Amino acid sequence: MTKQPPDRSPRTVDCPPPPDGCAATAGEPCLSHGGTRVRHSFHQARTAAWEAARIAAVPAANLIFDAKARRGMHGKDAAELLDKNGYSVEAEQLRRAVSEAHGHMSARQAIAFLVDHAEGGEGQ
Ligand SMILES: [Zn+2]
Repeated sequence: MTKQPPDRSPRTVDCPPPPDGCAATAGEPCLSHGGTRVRHSFHQARTAAWEAARIAAVPAANLIFDAKARRGMHGKDAAELLDKNGYSVEAEQLRRAVSEAHGHMSARQAIAFLVDHAEGGEGQ
């Protein structure tokens, strides 16, 4: 048995029912052509559901996601928001990431960063 990395793809959630998706259950691939052919990718709605679930699982990411002023928010502001709400560790990680990105980070990217980090991804 080779060691498999944990599945980090939309496959881990259900695909929404048609017309948005194919109603594949978690663990099953997406199907097309009336269920006769396995898709190499996932339905957009399934990817969206998966992303929402990942964000919901990370309180700090969820906080930014729920922020009323998220539209146009900068990564630096997102870190500030985390700090104000008691997520000082996450805020510090985010500040470091923003500085490594030379200040180029949106709130959306900040959410992705927090989610990846929470899942143990020690990215560069
Ligand atoms: Zn599908």
